[in-house]
Amino acid sequence: MRLILLGPPGAGKGTQAERLVDDFDLPYFATGDILRAAVKEESELGRAAKDYMDRGELVPDDLICAVIMERIDSSEAEDGFLLDGFPRTLGQAEALDRMLEELERDVSLVLEFQLPAELAEQRLLGRARQSGRKDDTPEVIRHRIQTQLVPEALVEHYRAKGVLVGIHADRTVEEVFAEVQSVLETAAAR
Ligand code: AMP
Repeated sequence: MRLILLGPPGAGKGTQAERLVDDFDLPYFATGDILRAAVKEESELGRAAKDYMDRGELVPDDLICAVIMERIDSSEAEDGFLLDGFPRTLGQAEALDRMLEELERDVSLVLEFQLPAELAEQRLLGRARQSGRKDDTPEVIRHRIQTQLVPEALVEHYRAKGVLVGIHADRTVEEVFAEVQSVLETAAAR
């Protein structure tokens, strides 16, 4: 199974992904986690990405695409993967399509976690308060959400392929996971 999770920051993708990884034993590639680790290590990638991340902006497509393609082309991802936080632009989706085509594979399912921007903002503010991350100011959070709402072109790209499923993310973790499970079961039975 080759799964993609889309949704604004705060929509709960990471939480749902953790459960999916446990249940389905899929290799999990979360670009935000990969980039944060790179910044910590002060690797070349981390140095290139840091300023964008600090400003709450997307890193350039070529940078992030190289990172993800390497993983998807690895033996680890041979039987499937779960992508969280990638693709975020149409360009990234097209790069992923080209890579999968070369490997004679395709995307199985794209789950779009739908959450209004105001609710995403409230959740991120709450998270910032809890973790004491003082660099997450309301302004930075608002900017991050505005720059990272899922572009309609990306949603349309996967809708046209017939692999898109919308998930109402404005519910409890358990409720959302129950829906995700049922969507996956339906897809597996097809
Ligand atoms: P996340 O944890 O997914 O919110 O990602 C944290 C930060 O990493 C984002 O604010 C972006 O700066 C960067 N990032 C993560 N994934 C991508 C991506 N697919 N394209 C561009 N930038 C990304």
